[in-house]
Formats: sequence, structure tokens, C-alpha cells
Amino acid sequence: MRALILSDIHANMQALAAVLAAAPEHDIVWNLGDVVGYGASPNETIVCLKELNSVYVRGNHDRACCGLTSLDDFNPVARQAAEWTHGQLSRSRRKWLCDLPQGPVEVGEGLVCVHGSAADEDIYVQTLGEAIDALQAAPSAWVEFYGHTHVQGGFVRSDDGWYVFKPEYTSKHNEEFFDLPMRRGVRYLLNPGSVGQPRDGDWRAGFALYDDVVSVVRFYRVPYDLDRAQKKILAAGLPERLATRLANGL
Ligand code: ZN
Repeated sequence: MRALILSDIHANMQALAAVLAAAPEHDIVWNLGDVVGYGASPNETIVCLKELNSVYVRGNHDRACCGLTSLDDFNPVARQAAEWTHGQLSRSRRKWLCDLPQGPVEVGEGLVCVHGSAADEDIYVQTLGEAIDALQAAPSAWVEFYGHTHVQGGFVRSDDGWYVFKPEYTSKHNEEFFDLPMRRGVRYLLNPGSVGQPRDGDWRAGFALYDDVVSVVRFYRVPYDLDRAQKKILAAGLPERLATRLANGL
């Protein structure tokens, strides 16, 4: 079984199209949430995703953009984008967002998908302490796939302790991948990276592929039509910052 793992697409249709074009053959998509919010293509993104055979967990932006939760915790830029997205979506697409399930969702034996963490869907797992809490909240998980931070990589607990995992690439312009061989007896907390708004200093769209035959998670970065994504954001009247930040992945 090969699962394509997508997270934090954020209505960036140009990035999603590049990811789907680059993605190797797969049986299923595991989507870790935040399909909309920030980007200028919420309708196209949802239409495209509905064609895929996917398991979802919802993200905080999905909840906010469909009106399920208030925007009180959002900064002004995120709030403006969520309000704009809400206005763009038809009632049926808003309902589709509202119906996305809350994580954790089990996708296989010992395999769990969450948006923030199994402890709290809105928590950002950025430190070792947060990673330990996240794995403790899913005691039967061998691998917990998470999103929300928009940072590709994660945390690994082996016999000799914890370490931070970050895929290593040789450029910032080409399509590249990095393999993480998976071992039993080791526990993993892995983020495939953000498709549509990376925040780890690399502008390329991030995603991952889990292959249970060879027991590898392959992390990818792929370039996409950045210029078009930025122009769409500006043409929509969304905050300029949402366009400029895409250029450096911050
Ligand atoms: Zn997000």
C-alpha cells in the first residue's frame, strides 16, 4: 500500500497541481487538514481534492472558513483570508468542509493522522516536549502523521533517545526527495510539509509518500507556478503578505 500524504494545502491550486503531477503512483491520499484558508483558489482546490480517494482530518482553517468555529484566535491576516474564503464557497462546499472529521484518525495498524497532534488538534508540535505529549496521547501509534506547523520533518524516538528529523536536500529549485527508512520498535512523529504555504525556509511544495512494502517514508519538495499563485492572491484582494511570504517559504 502506498499513501500520498498531503497537508496544509491552503487553497494554493498551483502548488497542489504540481504535487499531484509529481506524485508517484499511490492507492490512497491521507490529507492532514487546512485544505483552504490563505490561498486564492478554495473552490478549485476542493473540486480537485474530491476527485481523489482520500482520508481526511480537518484543520483549524477548515473549521474557521466554513463557520464551524469563531475567528477569535486568528490574527488579522488569517481572519481576513478566512472571511474571504467563506464568501467564495458555495453552501455545499462549506458543508463538505464542516463535515471533515476531527483527528486523530487511524489509517492503518499503528498509523494515525492528526492535524496538530493526537492530544489536541490545534497544538503546534514544534518542540521535543510537545512531540512527547503528542505520542503519549496516541499510545498505540507507531507513526503519527501531523501537519499544522508547515514544517517538513518531525521527531523520532529510538532506543538511544529522541532526535529531530529533517529531510536533507541539495537545492532549493529542483524537484527532490529524501528517504526515511522506517523501523519497528522506533516511534515516529512525521510532518509531510505544507503543500501550499511552507514555513521552513523552502518555498517548494512539500509532501510525502508512505510505502508499507519497502517501509519507507519518502519526503518530497517540488517547484510550482509561484508567480501565478501570488498574482491570484493579489487579484483576489487578499493581504499582500500572503503572496510575498510564499516566495521564501516563511
Ligand atoms: Zn495550516
